[in-house]
Amino acid sequence: MALAFRCSSHDDRKKSLFTRDRERREESEKLATLYLPARTPGEEPVIPKPEIFDALHNPAENPAALPTIAECAVHLQLLEKFVALKQKVLTSNRLDRAFAIIPKDKLVTKRGKREIQADQTFKARQAVKWPIFVWFAAARFLRWWRICSPILHPQDNRLTMAETSLPPLDVLMIWHAFLSSPTKYEIFCKTNWREDMLKLEFPWLLIHRSLVNDDPSVKLGKEAGDLFTKHVGEVSLFESLACHNDHLESFRVLLESLVTTNGKSRLSVEFPGLRGTPCSDDGWQSMDMLSAIVECNTIFAEKTVNFLWLRSPALGRTLERAIVRYERFMALVKKHPETTLVPALDIRLVLRTQQCSPASQLACCSKLAGRAINWDDALKGELPKNGIAETSRLYEMDFQEEYHPCLCWDCEAMKSEIERYGLMDSIDYAAIVQNAQDKVMYYKAVELARRKGNPLPARIVDISN
Ligand SMILES: [Zn+2]
Repeated sequence: MALAFRCSSHDDRKKSLFTRDRERREESEKLATLYLPARTPGEEPVIPKPEIFDALHNPAENPAALPTIAECAVHLQLLEKFVALKQKVLTSNRLDRAFAIIPKDKLVTKRGKREIQADQTFKARQAVKWPIFVWFAAARFLRWWRICSPILHPQDNRLTMAETSLPPLDVLMIWHAFLSSPTKYEIFCKTNWREDMLKLEFPWLLIHRSLVNDDPSVKLGKEAGDLFTKHVGEVSLFESLACHNDHLESFRVLLESLVTTNGKSRLSVEFPGLRGTPCSDDGWQSMDMLSAIVECNTIFAEKTVNFLWLRSPALGRTLERAIVRYERFMALVKKHPETTLVPALDIRLVLRTQQCSPASQLACCSKLAGRAINWDDALKGELPKNGIAETSRLYEMDFQEEYHPCLCWDCEAMKSEIERYGLMDSIDYAAIVQNAQDKVMYYKAVELARRKGNPLPARIVDISN
């Protein structure tokens, strides 16, 4: 029996779930009236459900296994923080002042009336803050990376991170981006005599514990904070930049201090508003390369976060399906060694979760794909033109399943409901559709309330997923 179901994203895939257009605003106003606000904390829903993270271990239980749902969920949390951090930097008035970016509104006379003409260049000038922020983060990463001391587990020769080595969010962002370019990261580790960093497992559990809701930062323990301050600098890069009011020269001093070797600065600085001598230092070149990688990583983060899977009614099952699809993708890689296969977005999330732990990824890929999968978003431009179409064709031929399905809340909730009941003849499809739609509607209401800072709607539907 065909399902009488059509998701809103199918009608207009460009409309995200929470855009501000009139139609959506009306929908959200209607949603707000459908549910009573929770009267006690016990009535409030906890989204995502804490149980989804129960399976996290540091180190991972089986390093050569596929990534787990819990690890992928922390990955989504981390991507959300990266996107929020960029927003915070771009919209911060404090950073505007520190970077001497001032709106140059003009008083003009039009048809005999005096009026203020807004500065049309202001937004573009504000955008400069982000690349500069990334440069500082890259400099801090290079310094942290040199002092990071992984813990060796002699029984299986694995390396994990101590809680005291966990860096702040800006450094995590650079490290995470660098790990998504596996070939460059490997060369970087080898040429800098830090091959041990290739064996280090990404600290998903530590990161999860340090994330604070609605705060675009990670909360470091006292020891980790003290260690970072001693060797690198202030824990919050944002605060350290924001307090440099209107003195671009002080940025140059700050940045040079981050890339100083043996007390002597070997680097010169050149970025908007500052003058310096171009330099050929390896560290500086690395920073330029890192900035480019971070740009690619930010695009991936924004694309993924836009789906809001982390707060969707189908989070667990969406990730479970993505992991299965990643395993199938690896089987295709093994079967077609001559073809460059392009991972779909959900598959890429799992692949990149695994890329964060290079040794584990190599072990798992060798087992399932017969070789390493060195996917790098930065090299997408070099892919064959028909790469996506060919991957879809091969995948759909072998697995009789759409390679690029709609991944919106409605569709994911529907798939999850159908999987829950199995494909039996006696299923009441109308009830399944209704069930999925009820869940999506409730989750939307919760998300809208969260964004507005309103009390969350009381739990009235079964929110298991
Ligand atoms: Zn859809």
